[in-house]
Amino acid sequence: MAIILDGTKIAAEIRGEVATEVQSLAAAGMRPGLAVILVGHNPASEIYVRGKVKSCEEVGIHSEKLTPPDTISTAELLDLVLRLNRRDEIDGILVQLPLPAPVDSKKILMAVDPAKDVDGFHPVNVGFLSTQRAGLVPCTPAGIMEILRHSGIPVAGQDAVVVGRSDIVGKPTAMLLINAHATVTVCHSKTRDLPGVCRRADILVAAIGRAGMITRDFVKPGATVVDVGMNKVTERAEFDRLFAGNARRTETFLAKGSALVGDVHPEVAEVAGAITPVPGGVGPLTIAMLMANTVKAAKMRRGSPVPALSRESA
Ligand code: NAP
Repeated sequence: MAIILDGTKIAAEIRGEVATEVQSLAAAGMRPGLAVILVGHNPASEIYVRGKVKSCEEVGIHSEKLTPPDTISTAELLDLVLRLNRRDEIDGILVQLPLPAPVDSKKILMAVDPAKDVDGFHPVNVGFLSTQRAGLVPCTPAGIMEILRHSGIPVAGQDAVVVGRSDIVGKPTAMLLINAHATVTVCHSKTRDLPGVCRRADILVAAIGRAGMITRDFVKPGATVVDVGMNKVTERAEFDRLFAGNARRTETFLAKGSALVGDVHPEVAEVAGAITPVPGGVGPLTIAMLMANTVKAAKMRRGSPVPALSRESA
């Protein structure tokens, strides 16, 4: 059976390091600050933002939640972002996606000062990542690398396969793995013989958005499998395909009427060498890395009295 890579534990360690750094920065009069813009009342976004604000409180980062109505225009939102860009005590600006359809999301994201772009989505930061310059790296991919690093899983020289090529997860994860000297293949919906390509991987990252798609025949025995997927399964037949016989998961499914499921089928744990669970794998790292990015942004922008940590060289 595979070793379970405990993302909750690793995220707690990172939050602990971040809290220590925040204390040192605050003592030097540089308490990091994060502004989160939440437009309208998307229930999922509200939950995510609540988690981000709570995490700020836990590590000592100053946070501000701005909640304009969903009738806000692109020009008004742009003005809000530009005002945050100008405020020195705000180190990170996060625009919670999705924005309401009439708002020009690309224009808004482009307006965020790259030095405060703690999501790492701005093309300037994408460019920094692909040319190995110091910048802000997207949180989920950065979290994946932290799981590998904290778990002592070698990356240099390994064959890595990333399934998914989104700007948010797949592409930046591939770039980080290349920068860490892996030999990387990126797969997507047009890839021929996906199971065959995946079976070459020493490190397999699944960022697809299809519940349990990666079954045991995609996995080389002993490989490390990182499951980024977060899929809500509500159909009993779909649930049973994944978790038949798992009393604990079935009890939760029946109580809640749904289950949070990764892109990797649970049977993969029987062949993989190490695997991230869902929930409790990559998910917790995403918010921890947002905290780390806010501190990194503060240090880079304001000139830091605190030395850089090894994870910041990613
Ligand atoms: P996305 O933008 O929808 O991208 C999905 C990728 O998977 C695309 O590149 C797509 O290929 C590929 N794909 C879809 N079906 C495929 C198939 N049958 N075979 C091979 N490739 C296929 O999704 P995303 O934003 O990257 O997110 C991926 C998953 O990660 C989702 O479940 C999401 O909820 C989860 N996620 C989790 C976290 C976290 O904190 N844990 C953070 C972000 C996302 P094409 O490009 O060809 O369409």
